Amino acid sequence: MAKAEKIKYIEPVIKRREEEYDPFIEATLQFENAADYLDLEPLIYQRLKYPERELTVHIPVSLDNGNAETFTGFRVQHSTIRGPSKGGIRYSPDASLSECKALASWMTWKCAVINIPFGGGKGAVICDPTKMSENELKKLTKQYISAIRDIIGPFKDIPAPDMFTNSQTMAWIADAYKQNGQIEPAVVTGKPILLGGSLGRENATGTGLYYVLREASKYLDFSLAGKKVAILGFGNVGSSIAKLVHKAGCKITAVTDIYGGIYSDKGIDPAALKEQVSKTGSIVDFPETEPIDNESLISLPCDVLIPAAVEGQINKNNANDVKAKIILEGANGPTTLDADEILKEKETLVIPDILANAGGVMVSYLEWVQNLQRFFFSEEEVLAKTEKKMNQAFWDVIKTMKDYKVSMREAAYILAVGRVAETLRVLGRN
Ligand code: NAD
Repeated sequence: MAKAEKIKYIEPVIKRREEEYDPFIEATLQFENAADYLDLEPLIYQRLKYPERELTVHIPVSLDNGNAETFTGFRVQHSTIRGPSKGGIRYSPDASLSECKALASWMTWKCAVINIPFGGGKGAVICDPTKMSENELKKLTKQYISAIRDIIGPFKDIPAPDMFTNSQTMAWIADAYKQNGQIEPAVVTGKPILLGGSLGRENATGTGLYYVLREASKYLDFSLAGKKVAILGFGNVGSSIAKLVHKAGCKITAVTDIYGGIYSDKGIDPAALKEQVSKTGSIVDFPETEPIDNESLISLPCDVLIPAAVEGQINKNNANDVKAKIILEGANGPTTLDADEILKEKETLVIPDILANAGGVMVSYLEWVQNLQRFFFSEEEVLAKTEKKMNQAFWDVIKTMKDYKVSMREAAYILAVGRVAETLRVLGRN
Protein backbone atom coordinates (compact mmCIF):
# COMPACT_ATOMS: atom_id res chain seq x y z
CA MET A 1 0.00 0.00 0.00
CA ALA A 2 1.44 3.40 -0.98
CA LYS A 3 2.18 5.62 2.01
CA ALA A 4 2.52 9.38 2.02
CA GLU A 5 6.17 10.28 2.31
CA LYS A 6 5.05 12.40 5.24
CA ILE A 7 2.45 15.04 5.27
CA LYS A 8 5.10 17.77 5.05
CA TYR A 9 5.57 17.29 1.32
CA ILE A 10 1.97 18.31 0.60
CA GLU A 11 1.88 22.06 0.31
CA PRO A 12 -0.22 23.22 3.28
CA VAL A 13 -2.92 25.36 1.75
CA ILE A 14 -4.06 26.44 5.15
CA LYS A 15 -1.50 28.41 7.10
CA ARG A 16 -1.86 29.28 10.72
CA ARG A 17 -2.68 32.89 11.54
CA GLU A 18 -1.49 33.82 14.99
CA GLU A 19 -3.82 36.62 15.94
CA GLU A 20 -7.09 35.54 14.44
CA TYR A 21 -9.06 32.52 15.66
CA ASP A 22 -10.25 30.61 12.64
CA PRO A 23 -12.18 27.43 13.52
CA PHE A 24 -11.41 25.65 10.25
CA ILE A 25 -7.68 26.27 10.65
CA GLU A 26 -7.90 24.78 14.15
CA ALA A 27 -9.87 21.78 12.84
CA THR A 28 -7.41 21.25 9.98
CA LEU A 29 -4.39 21.34 12.28
CA GLN A 30 -6.06 18.79 14.55
CA PHE A 31 -6.65 16.54 11.53
CA GLU A 32 -3.08 17.03 10.24
CA ASN A 33 -1.67 16.00 13.60
CA ALA A 34 -3.66 12.73 13.56
CA ALA A 35 -2.82 12.15 9.89
CA ASP A 36 0.84 12.48 10.78
CA TYR A 37 0.60 9.80 13.50
CA LEU A 38 -1.28 7.51 11.10
CA ASP A 39 1.09 8.12 8.19
CA LEU A 40 -1.88 8.39 5.80
CA GLU A 41 -1.64 7.70 2.08
CA PRO A 42 -1.59 10.96 0.03
CA LEU A 43 -5.03 10.46 -1.56
CA ILE A 44 -6.73 9.58 1.73
CA TYR A 45 -5.08 12.59 3.33
CA GLN A 46 -6.41 14.90 0.60
CA ARG A 47 -9.90 13.36 0.72
CA LEU A 48 -10.23 13.93 4.45
CA LYS A 49 -8.62 17.34 4.76
CA TYR A 50 -11.26 19.32 2.86
CA PRO A 51 -15.07 19.21 2.94
CA GLU A 52 -16.71 17.35 0.05
CA ARG A 53 -19.17 20.20 -0.54
CA GLU A 54 -19.81 23.78 0.64
CA LEU A 55 -23.05 25.53 -0.29
CA THR A 56 -23.75 29.23 0.35
CA VAL A 57 -27.32 30.48 -0.09
CA HIS A 58 -28.97 33.90 0.14
CA ILE A 59 -32.42 33.89 1.68
CA PRO A 60 -34.84 36.81 1.28
CA VAL A 61 -37.41 36.94 4.10
CA SER A 62 -40.30 39.34 4.62
CA LEU A 63 -40.18 40.80 8.15
CA ASP A 64 -43.05 41.53 10.52
CA ASN A 65 -42.57 45.29 10.02
CA GLY A 66 -43.26 45.01 6.29
CA ASN A 67 -39.58 45.28 5.24
CA ALA A 68 -37.60 42.45 3.70
CA GLU A 69 -34.09 41.26 4.51
CA THR A 70 -31.72 38.85 2.82
CA PHE A 71 -29.91 36.42 5.12
CA THR A 72 -26.87 34.32 4.20
CA GLY A 73 -26.85 30.63 5.04
CA PHE A 74 -24.47 27.70 4.59
CA ARG A 75 -24.55 23.93 4.48
CA VAL A 76 -21.24 22.10 4.48
CA GLN A 77 -20.79 18.36 3.97
CA HIS A 78 -17.35 17.36 5.11
CA SER A 79 -17.68 13.63 4.53
CA THR A 80 -20.15 11.02 3.31
CA ILE A 81 -17.68 8.15 3.40
CA ARG A 82 -19.14 6.19 6.32
CA GLY A 83 -22.76 7.19 5.65
CA PRO A 84 -24.92 10.29 5.04
CA SER A 85 -23.49 13.50 6.47
CA LYS A 86 -25.03 14.47 9.80
CA GLY A 87 -24.89 17.71 11.73
CA GLY A 88 -26.81 20.56 13.27
CA ILE A 89 -28.02 23.93 12.03
CA ARG A 90 -26.94 27.01 13.96
CA TYR A 91 -28.50 30.49 13.92
CA SER A 92 -25.98 33.11 14.98
CA PRO A 93 -24.77 36.60 14.02
CA ASP A 94 -21.21 35.19 14.19
CA ALA A 95 -21.86 32.19 11.91
CA SER A 96 -19.42 31.86 9.02
CA LEU A 97 -18.42 29.42 6.30
CA SER A 98 -15.17 28.69 8.13
CA GLU A 99 -17.09 27.86 11.31
CA CYS A 100 -19.42 25.53 9.37
CA LYS A 101 -16.47 23.79 7.72
CA ALA A 102 -14.86 23.21 11.11
CA LEU A 103 -18.09 22.02 12.70
CA ALA A 104 -18.79 19.70 9.74
CA SER A 105 -15.37 18.09 10.00
CA TRP A 106 -15.73 17.69 13.78
CA MET A 107 -19.01 15.86 13.08
CA THR A 108 -17.19 13.40 10.79
CA TRP A 109 -14.69 12.61 13.53
CA LYS A 110 -17.36 12.54 16.25
CA CYS A 111 -19.47 9.96 14.38
CA ALA A 112 -16.34 7.90 13.78
CA VAL A 113 -15.22 8.05 17.44
CA ILE A 114 -18.51 6.56 18.60
CA ASN A 115 -18.59 4.32 15.53
CA ILE A 116 -21.96 5.16 13.96
CA PRO A 117 -22.56 5.06 10.18
CA PHE A 118 -22.61 8.79 9.44
CA GLY A 119 -20.26 11.35 7.98
CA GLY A 120 -20.17 14.99 9.03
CA GLY A 121 -22.14 18.05 7.97
CA LYS A 122 -23.16 21.38 9.43
CA GLY A 123 -25.37 24.32 8.53
CA ALA A 124 -25.83 27.87 9.71
CA VAL A 125 -27.65 31.08 8.97
CA ILE A 126 -26.14 34.45 9.84
CA CYS A 127 -28.89 36.12 11.86
CA ASP A 128 -29.63 37.31 15.37
CA PRO A 129 -32.40 34.94 16.53
CA THR A 130 -32.77 36.86 19.82
CA LYS A 131 -34.08 39.84 17.83
CA MET A 132 -36.42 37.90 15.53
CA SER A 133 -40.04 36.91 16.10
CA GLU A 134 -41.21 33.29 15.97
CA ASN A 135 -42.96 34.08 12.69
CA GLU A 136 -39.77 35.50 11.15
CA LEU A 137 -37.73 32.50 12.34
CA LYS A 138 -40.31 30.14 10.83
CA LYS A 139 -40.15 31.92 7.46
CA LEU A 140 -36.34 32.03 7.55
CA THR A 141 -36.13 28.29 8.36
CA LYS A 142 -38.50 27.26 5.58
CA GLN A 143 -36.74 29.47 3.00
CA TYR A 144 -33.34 28.17 4.08
CA ILE A 145 -34.47 24.56 3.71
CA SER A 146 -35.98 25.29 0.33
CA ALA A 147 -32.60 26.74 -0.72
CA ILE A 148 -30.60 23.67 0.43
CA ARG A 149 -33.20 20.93 -0.18
CA ASP A 150 -31.39 19.42 -3.17
CA ILE A 151 -28.42 18.41 -1.06
CA ILE A 152 -30.22 17.15 2.09
CA GLY A 153 -32.29 13.99 2.53
CA PRO A 154 -32.55 10.85 4.71
CA PHE A 155 -29.71 9.15 2.80
CA LYS A 156 -27.74 12.28 1.88
CA ASP A 157 -27.43 14.74 4.74
CA ILE A 158 -29.55 14.94 7.90
CA PRO A 159 -29.76 18.21 9.89
CA ALA A 160 -30.36 18.51 13.65
CA PRO A 161 -30.54 21.30 16.28
CA ASP A 162 -27.54 23.37 17.32
CA MET A 163 -27.15 26.80 18.86
CA PHE A 164 -30.39 28.80 18.80
CA THR A 165 -32.33 26.10 16.97
CA ASN A 166 -34.54 23.54 18.70
CA SER A 167 -37.23 20.90 18.17
CA GLN A 168 -39.64 23.56 16.86
CA THR A 169 -37.09 24.57 14.20
CA MET A 170 -36.73 20.88 13.27
CA ALA A 171 -40.53 20.59 12.89
CA TRP A 172 -40.48 23.53 10.44
CA ILE A 173 -37.66 21.78 8.55
CA ALA A 174 -39.70 18.55 8.30
CA ASP A 175 -42.61 20.58 6.92
CA ALA A 176 -40.45 22.48 4.44
CA TYR A 177 -38.89 19.25 3.15
CA LYS A 178 -42.25 17.47 2.49
CA GLN A 179 -42.11 15.03 -0.46
CA ASN A 180 -45.34 14.67 -2.45
CA GLY A 181 -47.21 16.31 0.40
CA GLN A 182 -45.88 13.77 2.94
CA ILE A 183 -43.56 14.37 5.89
CA GLU A 184 -40.34 12.31 5.63
CA PRO A 185 -39.33 12.13 9.31
CA ALA A 186 -35.84 10.68 8.66
CA VAL A 187 -34.71 13.90 6.94
CA VAL A 188 -34.09 15.69 10.24
CA THR A 189 -33.48 14.67 13.86
CA GLY A 190 -34.21 16.43 17.14
CA LYS A 191 -37.88 16.70 16.10
CA PRO A 192 -40.81 16.87 18.53
CA ILE A 193 -41.96 13.39 19.64
CA LEU A 194 -45.23 14.02 17.80
CA LEU A 195 -43.37 14.07 14.46
CA GLY A 196 -41.23 10.99 15.13
CA GLY A 197 -38.65 12.48 17.46
CA SER A 198 -36.85 10.09 19.80
CA LEU A 199 -37.44 9.82 23.49
CA GLY A 200 -34.28 11.00 25.24
CA ARG A 201 -33.15 13.35 22.42
CA GLU A 202 -33.81 16.63 24.27
CA ASN A 203 -31.20 15.88 26.94
CA ALA A 204 -29.06 13.50 24.89
CA THR A 205 -25.91 15.62 24.68
CA GLY A 206 -25.93 16.33 28.42
CA THR A 207 -26.62 12.66 29.16
CA GLY A 208 -23.70 11.58 26.97
CA LEU A 209 -21.45 14.13 28.69
CA TYR A 210 -22.44 12.68 32.02
CA TYR A 211 -21.68 9.07 30.95
CA VAL A 212 -18.24 10.16 29.80
CA LEU A 213 -17.56 12.12 32.99
CA ARG A 214 -18.57 9.09 35.06
CA GLU A 215 -16.11 6.89 33.14
CA ALA A 216 -13.42 9.59 33.60
CA SER A 217 -14.03 9.51 37.35
CA LYS A 218 -13.41 5.73 37.27
CA TYR A 219 -10.29 6.22 35.15
CA LEU A 220 -8.89 8.86 37.51
CA ASP A 221 -10.29 7.05 40.54
CA PHE A 222 -12.23 9.86 42.15
CA SER A 223 -15.82 10.27 43.30
CA LEU A 224 -18.09 12.86 41.69
CA ALA A 225 -19.89 13.58 44.98
CA GLY A 226 -18.92 16.97 46.40
CA LYS A 227 -16.89 18.05 43.35
CA LYS A 228 -17.15 21.70 42.28
CA VAL A 229 -18.37 22.31 38.74
CA ALA A 230 -18.40 25.52 36.65
CA ILE A 231 -20.49 25.66 33.46
CA LEU A 232 -20.03 28.14 30.63
CA GLY A 233 -23.33 28.34 28.70
CA PHE A 234 -26.74 27.29 30.01
CA GLY A 235 -28.70 26.27 26.92
CA ASN A 236 -29.65 22.76 25.90
CA VAL A 237 -26.24 21.24 26.68
CA GLY A 238 -25.27 23.31 29.74
CA SER A 239 -28.62 22.91 31.49
CA SER A 240 -28.86 19.14 30.86
CA ILE A 241 -25.39 18.33 32.18
CA ALA A 242 -26.02 20.71 35.11
CA LYS A 243 -29.02 18.63 36.21
CA LEU A 244 -27.08 15.35 36.00
CA VAL A 245 -23.95 16.49 37.86
CA HIS A 246 -26.17 18.06 40.52
CA LYS A 247 -27.99 14.72 40.90
CA ALA A 248 -24.61 12.98 41.22
CA GLY A 249 -23.82 15.19 44.23
CA CYS A 250 -21.58 17.77 42.55
CA LYS A 251 -21.79 21.43 43.57
CA ILE A 252 -22.39 23.85 40.68
CA THR A 253 -20.60 27.01 41.79
CA ALA A 254 -20.81 29.15 38.65
CA VAL A 255 -22.75 29.44 35.40
CA THR A 256 -22.59 32.01 32.60
CA ASP A 257 -24.67 32.70 29.51
CA ILE A 258 -24.55 35.25 26.72
CA TYR A 259 -26.03 37.94 28.99
CA GLY A 260 -23.80 37.46 32.08
CA GLY A 261 -22.97 35.02 34.85
CA ILE A 262 -23.70 33.92 38.41
CA TYR A 263 -21.54 32.55 41.24
CA SER A 264 -22.44 30.94 44.55
CA ASP A 265 -20.11 29.18 46.95
CA LYS A 266 -23.13 27.36 48.39
CA GLY A 267 -24.05 25.88 45.02
CA ILE A 268 -26.69 26.64 42.38
CA ASP A 269 -29.85 24.56 41.91
CA PRO A 270 -30.03 23.84 38.13
CA ALA A 271 -33.78 23.05 38.10
CA ALA A 272 -34.67 26.41 39.69
CA LEU A 273 -32.21 28.15 37.37
CA LYS A 274 -33.80 26.53 34.32
CA GLU A 275 -37.19 27.69 35.53
CA GLN A 276 -35.89 31.25 35.72
CA VAL A 277 -34.42 30.96 32.19
CA SER A 278 -37.77 29.79 30.83
CA LYS A 279 -39.37 32.91 32.36
CA THR A 280 -36.74 35.64 31.82
CA GLY A 281 -34.58 34.15 29.05
CA SER A 282 -31.40 34.42 31.13
CA ILE A 283 -29.58 33.17 34.23
CA VAL A 284 -28.66 36.74 35.26
CA ASP A 285 -29.84 37.93 38.70
CA PHE A 286 -30.59 34.42 39.98
CA PRO A 287 -31.34 34.82 43.72
CA GLU A 288 -28.52 34.43 46.26
CA THR A 289 -25.73 34.60 43.66
CA GLU A 290 -23.05 37.14 42.76
CA PRO A 291 -22.32 38.27 39.20
CA ILE A 292 -19.35 36.68 37.41
CA ASP A 293 -17.97 36.95 33.86
CA ASN A 294 -16.72 34.21 31.51
CA GLU A 295 -13.03 34.88 32.17
CA SER A 296 -13.49 34.69 35.95
CA LEU A 297 -15.52 31.48 35.58
CA ILE A 298 -12.75 29.88 33.50
CA SER A 299 -10.17 30.67 36.20
CA LEU A 300 -12.30 29.62 39.22
CA PRO A 301 -10.92 27.01 41.59
CA CYS A 302 -13.12 24.01 40.69
CA ASP A 303 -12.81 20.33 39.81
CA VAL A 304 -14.68 20.19 36.50
CA LEU A 305 -15.00 23.01 33.98
CA ILE A 306 -17.70 22.47 31.35
CA PRO A 307 -17.62 24.82 28.35
CA ALA A 308 -21.08 24.54 26.74
CA ALA A 309 -21.38 27.69 24.60
CA VAL A 310 -19.25 28.69 21.60
CA GLU A 311 -15.80 27.95 20.14
CA GLY A 312 -12.46 29.29 21.26
CA GLN A 313 -13.39 30.37 24.79
CA ILE A 314 -10.47 28.56 26.46
CA ASN A 315 -7.48 30.03 24.68
CA LYS A 316 -3.86 31.07 25.15
CA ASN A 317 -4.93 34.14 27.15
CA ASN A 318 -6.69 32.21 29.89
CA ALA A 319 -5.55 28.55 29.72
CA ASN A 320 -2.80 29.19 32.28
CA ASP A 321 -5.43 30.37 34.74
CA VAL A 322 -7.54 27.18 34.51
CA LYS A 323 -7.61 25.43 37.88
CA ALA A 324 -10.05 22.63 37.05
CA LYS A 325 -8.55 19.12 36.88
CA ILE A 326 -10.97 18.11 34.13
CA ILE A 327 -12.35 20.07 31.19
CA LEU A 328 -15.43 18.33 29.82
CA GLU A 329 -16.10 19.82 26.38
CA GLY A 330 -19.85 20.18 25.94
CA ALA A 331 -19.40 22.82 23.23
CA ASN A 332 -17.76 22.10 19.90
CA GLY A 333 -14.23 23.52 19.64
CA PRO A 334 -14.21 25.41 22.97
CA THR A 335 -10.44 24.96 23.49
CA THR A 336 -7.91 26.36 21.01
CA LEU A 337 -4.76 24.47 20.03
CA ASP A 338 -2.57 26.94 21.92
CA ALA A 339 -4.64 26.33 25.03
CA ASP A 340 -4.36 22.56 24.51
CA GLU A 341 -0.56 22.82 24.67
CA ILE A 342 -0.73 24.78 27.92
CA LEU A 343 -3.29 22.40 29.44
CA LYS A 344 -1.14 19.37 28.48
CA GLU A 345 1.76 20.92 30.43
CA LYS A 346 -0.54 21.48 33.40
CA GLU A 347 -1.79 17.86 33.15
CA THR A 348 -5.41 18.97 32.94
CA LEU A 349 -7.50 16.13 31.52
CA VAL A 350 -9.31 17.64 28.52
CA ILE A 351 -12.12 15.30 27.47
CA PRO A 352 -12.44 16.36 23.83
CA ASP A 353 -15.65 17.54 22.20
CA ILE A 354 -15.66 14.84 19.52
CA LEU A 355 -16.00 12.27 22.28
CA ALA A 356 -17.61 14.16 25.16
CA ASN A 357 -20.61 15.71 23.38
CA ALA A 358 -21.32 12.82 21.01
CA GLY A 359 -24.43 11.74 22.98
CA GLY A 360 -26.51 14.16 20.88
CA VAL A 361 -25.57 12.62 17.57
CA MET A 362 -25.87 9.12 19.05
CA VAL A 363 -29.54 9.70 19.92
CA SER A 364 -30.02 11.45 16.56
CA TYR A 365 -28.74 8.25 14.98
CA LEU A 366 -31.30 6.26 17.00
CA GLU A 367 -34.03 8.71 15.95
CA TRP A 368 -33.09 8.22 12.28
CA VAL A 369 -33.09 4.42 12.71
CA GLN A 370 -36.55 4.58 14.36
CA ASN A 371 -37.86 6.86 11.59
CA LEU A 372 -36.63 4.58 8.81
CA GLN A 373 -38.14 1.45 10.36
CA ARG A 374 -41.27 3.26 11.67
CA PHE A 375 -40.77 1.42 14.96
CA PHE A 376 -39.96 3.24 18.19
CA PHE A 377 -37.75 2.52 21.20
CA SER A 378 -38.62 3.18 24.84
CA GLU A 379 -36.58 5.84 26.65
CA GLU A 380 -34.83 3.07 28.62
CA GLU A 381 -33.75 1.43 25.37
CA VAL A 382 -32.44 4.73 23.99
CA LEU A 383 -30.49 5.47 27.18
CA ALA A 384 -29.08 1.95 27.43
CA LYS A 385 -27.84 2.02 23.80
CA THR A 386 -26.36 5.49 24.30
CA GLU A 387 -24.63 4.57 27.55
CA LYS A 388 -23.08 1.49 25.94
CA LYS A 389 -21.77 3.50 22.96
CA MET A 390 -20.39 6.36 25.03
CA ASN A 391 -18.67 4.05 27.51
CA GLN A 392 -17.13 1.99 24.71
CA ALA A 393 -15.93 5.17 22.95
CA PHE A 394 -14.40 6.52 26.18
CA TRP A 395 -12.32 3.39 26.76
CA ASP A 396 -11.39 3.11 23.05
CA VAL A 397 -9.97 6.64 23.30
CA ILE A 398 -8.13 5.85 26.54
CA LYS A 399 -6.57 2.78 24.92
CA THR A 400 -5.45 4.83 21.89
CA MET A 401 -4.08 7.49 24.25
CA LYS A 402 -1.92 4.88 25.97
CA ASP A 403 -0.89 3.14 22.73
CA TYR A 404 0.29 6.39 21.11
CA LYS A 405 1.30 8.24 24.33
CA VAL A 406 -0.70 11.32 23.33
CA SER A 407 -3.37 13.59 24.83
CA MET A 408 -6.99 12.50 24.95
CA ARG A 409 -7.86 14.86 22.08
CA GLU A 410 -5.05 13.55 19.89
CA ALA A 411 -6.14 9.99 20.71
CA ALA A 412 -9.77 10.70 19.75
CA TYR A 413 -8.59 12.12 16.41
CA ILE A 414 -6.22 9.22 15.75
CA LEU A 415 -9.05 6.77 16.44
CA ALA A 416 -11.58 8.66 14.29
CA VAL A 417 -9.35 9.54 11.34
CA GLY A 418 -8.02 5.96 11.40
CA ARG A 419 -11.55 4.54 11.14
CA VAL A 420 -12.55 6.78 8.22
CA ALA A 421 -9.23 6.09 6.46
CA GLU A 422 -9.71 2.34 6.86
CA THR A 423 -13.20 2.62 5.31
CA LEU A 424 -11.63 4.37 2.30
CA ARG A 425 -9.07 1.59 1.95
CA VAL A 426 -11.77 -1.09 2.05
CA LEU A 427 -13.70 0.85 -0.62
CA GLY A 428 -10.56 1.00 -2.75
CA ARG A 429 -10.43 4.77 -2.65
CA ASN A 430 -6.82 5.05 -1.54
P1 NAD B 1 -28.11 26.69 23.05
O1 NAD B 1 -28.42 27.75 22.08
O2 NAD B 1 -29.21 25.87 23.59
O3 NAD B 1 -27.30 27.32 24.28
C1 NAD B 1 -26.12 28.06 24.11
C2 NAD B 1 -25.81 28.70 25.45
O4 NAD B 1 -24.56 29.38 25.37
C3 NAD B 1 -26.84 29.75 25.88
O5 NAD B 1 -26.98 29.71 27.29
C4 NAD B 1 -26.17 31.06 25.45
O6 NAD B 1 -26.65 32.17 26.22
C5 NAD B 1 -24.74 30.73 25.79
N1 NAD B 1 -23.75 31.55 25.10
C6 NAD B 1 -23.69 31.89 23.79
N2 NAD B 1 -22.62 32.67 23.58
C7 NAD B 1 -22.01 32.83 24.77
C8 NAD B 1 -20.88 33.54 25.22
N3 NAD B 1 -20.14 34.24 24.37
N4 NAD B 1 -20.55 33.47 26.52
C9 NAD B 1 -21.28 32.76 27.41
N5 NAD B 1 -22.37 32.07 27.05
C10 NAD B 1 -22.73 32.11 25.76
O7 NAD B 1 -26.99 25.75 22.35
P2 NAD B 1 -26.63 24.27 22.70
O8 NAD B 1 -27.40 23.39 21.82
O9 NAD B 1 -26.65 24.08 24.17
O10 NAD B 1 -25.12 24.22 22.16
C11 NAD B 1 -24.03 24.70 22.94
C12 NAD B 1 -22.74 24.12 22.38
O11 NAD B 1 -22.82 22.69 22.39
C13 NAD B 1 -22.43 24.49 20.93
O12 NAD B 1 -21.04 24.56 20.77
C14 NAD B 1 -22.97 23.32 20.15
O13 NAD B 1 -22.34 23.18 18.89
C15 NAD B 1 -22.59 22.20 21.09
N6 NAD B 1 -23.35 20.96 20.90
C16 NAD B 1 -24.72 20.96 20.97
C17 NAD B 1 -25.40 19.76 20.82
C18 NAD B 1 -26.89 19.66 20.95
O14 NAD B 1 -27.43 18.55 20.90
N7 NAD B 1 -27.61 20.75 21.18
C19 NAD B 1 -24.69 18.58 20.55
C20 NAD B 1 -23.30 18.60 20.50
C21 NAD B 1 -22.65 19.81 20.70
